[in-house]
Amino acid sequence: MARVAFIGLGRMGHGMAGRYLDAGFTVSVWNRSKPKAQDLIARGAQWATSPEDAAIDADAVVTMVADDAASREVWLTRDGAAATMKAGTIAIECSTVSYQHTLDMAHELRGRGLIYIDSPVTGLPDAAASGTLTLLVGAEPADLEKARPFLAPLGTTIRHFGAVGTGTVYKLINNLMGAIQIAGIAEGLAIAEQAGLDMKLVLEAVETGVAASPQVIRHSRRMAERNFAGATFTAALRHKDAAYAVALAESLLSAPPIMGRAAVEAYDRAKAYAPDEDEGKLIEIVSRPK
Ligand code: NAP
Repeated sequence: MARVAFIGLGRMGHGMAGRYLDAGFTVSVWNRSKPKAQDLIARGAQWATSPEDAAIDADAVVTMVADDAASREVWLTRDGAAATMKAGTIAIECSTVSYQHTLDMAHELRGRGLIYIDSPVTGLPDAAASGTLTLLVGAEPADLEKARPFLAPLGTTIRHFGAVGTGTVYKLINNLMGAIQIAGIAEGLAIAEQAGLDMKLVLEAVETGVAASPQVIRHSRRMAERNFAGATFTAALRHKDAAYAVALAESLLSAPPIMGRAAVEAYDRAKAYAPDEDEGKLIEIVSRPK
């Protein structure tokens, strides 16, 4: 059976690693903190003592960690996965990282004879655990064909945007547009609350009106009801994605990305307030009365 090393067992990675076990792969796992791996080990995953250890004999190494720094750490540090990957092994970056990071990693890993593709994802942790993510791929076509058997357990849709980095470009604009919408919902609902409107009626109008989008519908009721149980995406991660997207915008566009910068500013505050809690908690800051 094909061998996969899976690195990063957070909200998303834990479910994704489980998909490989369900599909019958031989799976080695590593996470910075071991307790998150316990039930995967009980299901048959082999615990590795480092990313380097996980990658020995792997046909593909898949990472799902927080950001550029974590990605660099697990691929390239002294005990990073690249140290033991054999030439021709497939490196799949599912983490949402910056565009420049994907280019740097492709350069670095290709220099070692490895295949590198970026495949950030959309979908929440429940989609990660059920293998119904959408995979946003940047890869040479031949590399994508080699990677397909390792992508199949994770998602139902593969969108191939072009060369390495393009999957990440799409992921970053997707999450920047989301950040702008979520910050907008928080402000809109906060105004309605402070003006004394019937919030039941406001929600009914928002959810069925022209301002509604899947993002608005997902967040508006939770925000209005201050129901943040089961955080799926945190303020720190949303801030990171918006900041990476703004950096990309600043490298490509002559006009300043005003909306994007505003979203980063909103999420600066949300991150300072509750970094590891649900991104929708932004409303608790913006709704404070004058
Ligand atoms: P999470 O639950 O916070 O998990 C983050 C993972 O990164 C954990 O395994 C963590 O290890 C690891 N990590 C962080 N810093 C590290 C470092 N310096 N060295 C090694 N490992 C490090 O986050 P998540 O929600 O699973 O998100 C993971 C990635 O998927 C992020 O890039 C995120 O933007 C993206 N994403 C998330 C969602 C979502 O709905 N949550 C959806 C799509 C994409 P520990 O367990 O030891 O802390």
